[in-house]
Amino acid sequence: MAIPKAELHIHIEGTLEPELAFHLADRNNLTLPFTDVDHLRAAYDFTDLPSFLDLYYRLMDVLRTEADFHDLAHAYLTRAAAQGVRHAEIFFDPQAHTNRGIPLHVVINGLTSALHTARTDHDLTTELILCFLRDRPVAEAMDTLDAARPHLHHITGVGLDSAEIGHPPADFTDVFTAAARLGLHRVAHAGEEGPADYIWQALNHLGVERIDHGIRCLDDPTLLT
Ligand SMILES: [Zn+2]
Repeated sequence: MAIPKAELHIHIEGTLEPELAFHLADRNNLTLPFTDVDHLRAAYDFTDLPSFLDLYYRLMDVLRTEADFHDLAHAYLTRAAAQGVRHAEIFFDPQAHTNRGIPLHVVINGLTSALHTARTDHDLTTELILCFLRDRPVAEAMDTLDAARPHLHHITGVGLDSAEIGHPPADFTDVFTAAARLGLHRVAHAGEEGPADYIWQALNHLGVERIDHGIRCLDDPTLLT
């Protein structure tokens, strides 16, 4: 706790705790496919990335309003501050919401209001990283970048996440080039479950400044030198 920390890999939607999920479901008159908090908590016993992502996307359905996104980020930032986090670079997945009919400004306004409060209340600085879902069409990522243009003053960079295998980074070259032209930083999940070659693609085609996960670099000694 006493050691100041920087959080450089956090998916805000993934911080949704079972208690808050049930609270938001009640507030939005939704029924979760779990009997109670303990039942949901038990479902967090993942076996692999796809089984995690299945629950991750199912739970997001409770996020509907600006207040929901605010409460999600506020809960995370309050916990982070208590753990000594002084700076957090936060991923969010706009397509996971816009594809459910939630407007992008609802997501961004809700999140940023909580980020602002964290700065005031905890002296905790934050950056927001807009991630494209790599298992969705490239054109949809480009549309998402276009939709984000009015909000770029809230967004530091773009990233690439979700199911990796079969979705090589190079597919998103045009999107990342457009993001670079808008002055955005670039990062990407690569070499998490996909091969080391995806790390090369993220570096060489997307021009990323940071690889997220990247554990498969161990398969390619050149990446380690
Ligand atoms: Zn991640």
